[in-house]
Amino acid sequence: MSIEALVKSHKQFKEEYGKKYSSLFQKLVEEGQSPKTLFIACSDSRVVPNLITYTKPGDLFIARNIGNFVPPFCPDSEASSTPAVIEYALSVLNVDNIILCGHTECGACKSLHQEIPEDDIEMTNIRKWLKFGNSAKEQAVALVGTQDKKRLYSATEKFNVIEQLKNLLTYPAVKRKVAEGEIFVQGWYYHLDSGEVEYFDPVEHQFLPIETVLEKANKG
Ligand SMILES: [Zn+2]
Repeated sequence: MSIEALVKSHKQFKEEYGKKYSSLFQKLVEEGQSPKTLFIACSDSRVVPNLITYTKPGDLFIARNIGNFVPPFCPDSEASSTPAVIEYALSVLNVDNIILCGHTECGACKSLHQEIPEDDIEMTNIRKWLKFGNSAKEQAVALVGTQDKKRLYSATEKFNVIEQLKNLLTYPAVKRKVAEGEIFVQGWYYHLDSGEVEYFDPVEHQFLPIETVLEKANKG
């Protein structure tokens, strides 16, 4: 899309959504935001958190980055954008839930299996950032090998969700709130082609259709 096309789209947004949501926009300004969910997703243009959760402005506090990575808690970290979002969501906004959302066809997970030349200065930060996916990559290779690339990438994407959930628990506020039952953390795996979502069930240790969450809640 060109800039001109984006400006035209924005005009359309104002005409359609501006009218539809004007009272909501006003309320969010007057009362401030109080989103209940921190949503961590990939920067991939095909993963659109508000679209796939059918939510409105004010509903989700969102962190997006390449690979939906969560750098492990580190007081001296230079890569502090996503960590700052996590801390703000928990300590200031007091969200009730964290959704960590991975997806199919993830370019970041695929890149983990390719070498980025050390001397390519234009890829410096990408190369450094991708190290947060190394554990997922290694587990995927150990489980499915490297011959079948489709299976390898899919396994990497799923291990990546599990690993980033573990990394979330390295944050003092997340760890404490999970232990005290104040916050609920869940890993999702979004299918770009069908729009389906699977979630990681830590008890069954596998990804299940998201509808299972509702079935289990009804039974419980
Ligand atoms: Zn991705």
